[in-house]
Amino acid sequence: MTANWPLHRFHGGIHPPENKTQSTSGPIRQAPLPTLLVVPLLQHIGQPAEPCVSEGERVYKGQLIALPAGLGAAVHAPSSGIVQRIGAAPYPHASGQTFTAIEIATDGKDEWHPDIQPADPASLDDEQLLQRIRQAGISGMGGAGFPTATKLHSGQQSSIDTLIINGTECEPYITADDMLMRERAAAIVAGSAILQRLLQARQVVVAIEDNKPEAVAAMQNAVQQSNWHVVVVPTLYPSGGERQLIKIITGLEVPSGRLPAHIGIVCQNVGTAAAVHDAVYLGQPLISRVTTLTGAALQQPMNVECLIGTPVNELLELAGLERKQLNRVIVGGPMMGFSLADLNAPAIKTTNCLIASTEQEMPAPEPALPCIRCGECELVCPAGLLPQQLLFYAQGGDHEQLQANNLFDCIECGACSYVCSSKIPLVQYYRSAKADIREQQQKQAKAEHARQRFEFRQERLRLEEERKAAERQARAERMAKAKAAREQAAAAKPAPAADGPSADALKKLKIEASMARVALGKAEKQLAQHDTPELHAQVEQLRAAAARAQQALADAEAKTAPATVAAPEKTDKTGKPALSEAAKKAKIELAMAKAALKKAERAEAPEEELGALREALANAEQALSTAEAGPAMASE
Ligand code: SF4
Ligand code: SF4
Repeated sequence: MTANWPLHRFHGGIHPPENKTQSTSGPIRQAPLPTLLVVPLLQHIGQPAEPCVSEGERVYKGQLIALPAGLGAAVHAPSSGIVQRIGAAPYPHASGQTFTAIEIATDGKDEWHPDIQPADPASLDDEQLLQRIRQAGISGMGGAGFPTATKLHSGQQSSIDTLIINGTECEPYITADDMLMRERAAAIVAGSAILQRLLQARQVVVAIEDNKPEAVAAMQNAVQQSNWHVVVVPTLYPSGGERQLIKIITGLEVPSGRLPAHIGIVCQNVGTAAAVHDAVYLGQPLISRVTTLTGAALQQPMNVECLIGTPVNELLELAGLERKQLNRVIVGGPMMGFSLADLNAPAIKTTNCLIASTEQEMPAPEPALPCIRCGECELVCPAGLLPQQLLFYAQGGDHEQLQANNLFDCIECGACSYVCSSKIPLVQYYRSAKADIREQQQKQAKAEHARQRFEFRQERLRLEEERKAAERQARAERMAKAKAAREQAAAAKPAPAADGPSADALKKLKIEASMARVALGKAEKQLAQHDTPELHAQVEQLRAAAARAQQALADAEAKTAPATVAAPEKTDKTGKPALSEAAKKAKIELAMAKAALKKAERAEAPEEELGALREALANAEQALSTAEAGPAMASE
């Protein structure tokens, strides 16, 4: 024990009767396995988990049955059995309303899921450790129920100097943490070491109220090998409040609206540390907890380790419930707890105490009187608030003033109500006002979200319209440019050469060249038959004339502009230019004329007949030459 640790005092606080010894006379007992487990999907601060099993499905002990959604924690089957129903079921809440739960008809085998495996934290990196804690569905066991992995993750974002392990358990009646420290100190220390490692905290302080000497001794013994501090703090309600305990241990105040991590401190409950140990070392998710069963209507007040989902009825029966004596059952302590409407509701992860009280023990509250402005409430408020002012604003529904007076710093400890001279249920007013403000904020957030969505949609439509207009404009510009380019190209196209021959002149030259070749051909044939000097001279003249005509045609064609790409010339099988139909016909007639002349010569026909055949042959030769000269000539 660190005897000389400098302690500080928070504002206010009260000393209600402790009533703790009734439930600490024996060790923690194991609650029997119930036939039906009712496992709510919401057992923590945040959103309900989402079921991942179906009705009729068999589940193992420790099997994941609901996945965390948003800020939340996973939910596991506390024992093996059949999922009997998923639906509305009694729920431990001040409102008395039902809530969705997974009901498991247990099979008595209590058979662990085969994937549940122990691990050595030394073999896991920090992310794996955090993942194990997250998958185990651990949430704060002190009563608040904040998801532990989320708290650790946010703690990792800050530089943490001090990890405070909260074993104060300041509420009257509750002894679950006390008994846990007495019996499982080593597991608490091992779990706390994992938390220290994840947070990189420089020091660890285990804080315990001075009304738990056995727990102090057990924890002192468990931390012997470390440099941790077990600090005993004076019993004063509510020293276990996170901000109040930080003040006691460090003297620091957590600013309004800020988290302890922002000033380098993280608090974790001893039960949470034990659950972290079980998750990492044993691989076991959070499926059970230690709960104090106490109150004057119980014959044997005790602490039990019960499965999550065990009906309150069965737990109270275990502790010898005297139904005739029972006035009401309180979940939690007498200061911050609430009356349970239906005893079939189950114990959940945050159920640290069940008080079966008699009328004499917890009489019905007296009728409230008007506030007399005595100021007693202000003197005891550990948050330094003005409870009477908050009451005034809450009664007037003045949300603005309530927030301006730090209503949300109220930890709902009930100290003000406890001392109120007028017996005004102050905390009820604050809870109700907080709920109203949260609802209004949610509505405003929804409306704001809807407004942003509407504006975003309008902006998206506007941008879309702008984009389309820009595309239309670009398309029109492209078309205008293309049109201008075509017009420019047409304007720039060179006109036919001014001094070039006309089409008619070219045609005439072609005919002249063809006729010259025909005349030359005829003369050459005559020369072949009658070789005379006159014919020689004539042939020479015709040859020169044909050459000139061909040259004139070539010159004219060269002057024709622009040059066009000549179509490929048609050829026959031998590669020679293919004959036109007229040329083919002329060739046949020529062959026939030749054959007729040869036949007449062989038959020694009369000279007139031979002369006529020779003339016909000459005509045929001329016709062939004309046809071979081309279509222009042929069409003349
Ligand atoms: S309930 Fe709120 S206002 Fe009342 S004493 Fe506690 S913290 Fe202060
Ligand atoms: S203790 Fe009660 S009566 Fe006195 S000031 Fe506070 S609210 Fe008023």
